Amino acid sequence: MKTSEFILPDELGFYGEFGGAYIPELLRPAVEELNTSFRNYCFTEAFRTDYLDLLKNYVGRPTPLYFARNYSEKYGAKIYFKREDLCHTGAHKINNTIGQILLAKHMGKTEIIAETGAGQHGVATATVCALMGLNCIVYMGEKDMERQAPNVQRMLMLGAEVRPATCGSKTLKDATNEAIRHWINFPDSYYLIGSVVGPHPYPEMVAYFQSIISEEIRNQLQETGAASPQKVIACVGGGSNAAGAFYHFYSDREVELIAVEAAGEGIHSGKSAATSVLGSPGVLHGSLTLLMQDSFGQVTEPHSISAGLDYPGIGPLHAHSIATGRTRSFSITDAEALEAALECSRLEGIIPALESAHALAVLKKLSFKPEEIIVVNLSGRGDKDINTYQNAFQNL
Ligand SMILES: *Cc1c(COP(=O)(O)O)cnc(C)c1O
Repeated sequence: MKTSEFILPDELGFYGEFGGAYIPELLRPAVEELNTSFRNYCFTEAFRTDYLDLLKNYVGRPTPLYFARNYSEKYGAKIYFKREDLCHTGAHKINNTIGQILLAKHMGKTEIIAETGAGQHGVATATVCALMGLNCIVYMGEKDMERQAPNVQRMLMLGAEVRPATCGSKTLKDATNEAIRHWINFPDSYYLIGSVVGPHPYPEMVAYFQSIISEEIRNQLQETGAASPQKVIACVGGGSNAAGAFYHFYSDREVELIAVEAAGEGIHSGKSAATSVLGSPGVLHGSLTLLMQDSFGQVTEPHSISAGLDYPGIGPLHAHSIATGRTRSFSITDAEALEAALECSRLEGIIPALESAHALAVLKKLSFKPEEIIVVNLSGRGDKDINTYQNAFQNL
């Protein structure tokens, strides 16, 4: 594994000025225990063997690096899709939950807690808890439970308990508060975070578990005789699929890394999730990072048509990487993402997740040389978004 400032934070968990662990004193021992266990266990041969075996036989890795012929022709470059949409449960999230559940098991934990917004992380967590025979409690905003009823049903079917968060706006940030409160009351439970957010060591750990994506991209390109890609493009909610797709390319300065956020109805519409443009430094979910907040430091409710990008912050490693210019960021509106989702369906016969459609939409904003190799990380499949697509495309 190559090291760089975007992969290894300092001892306190800072990537440049962002990161750290801003947590209640009561949680300090639990977070310390997690940090120590992660470092002692997750780099061993024993862990790697179990982890890679499950990724292969349960998740279905390696996922293909698909040469998108019709896109390549249209956009005038060699465009590849990394097919995370083909993972078990339909997205990249399971790479992380597999890694963390093995760690939880190793730590002797019996109860897993998580929060979820759209329900995708809740489903990925409930899935691995079923697999490992561990109790699973998922906190979810009451409003999100209504909006995402099929995912609630999936979690219940997998044996998880879904607890509604009934405070505040009854959405993700309230579910997060509830999960942290639970962890404070029951520090022996294992808190399974779903993106490169949260207190140190979560961002580093989740990026490590997702780094399998860029490890495979690099190997798969090498097999075709190609060198490094010129550009790697990924959408960013908290930033876990992007961190995974960028990981092994951070240290290769020739590779341009492009993070795509949700502009919602427009960056300055008041209904957006474009954190790298609108955000300012503050503490969210236990780390110092860029977040959307008002002048009193209250978190602003984000908006995106895609539930997975509807997050008011961005992981500290991305905040640092964008601030230092290593990663370039773009914002894509709801309308642009919908158009890209339809284009991908029609051109390649792949219905992408709305999140992934944001990454695809950036292709229209770039210009290419014919021999350039572009990798778009297709973070998930579009089945979960079919109702949104149905509403958007009534005249097909
Ligand atoms: C959750 C999700 C995302 C956003 O999460 P990241 O941590 O930013 O990757 C993106 N795509 C899909 C399909 C998702 O389910």
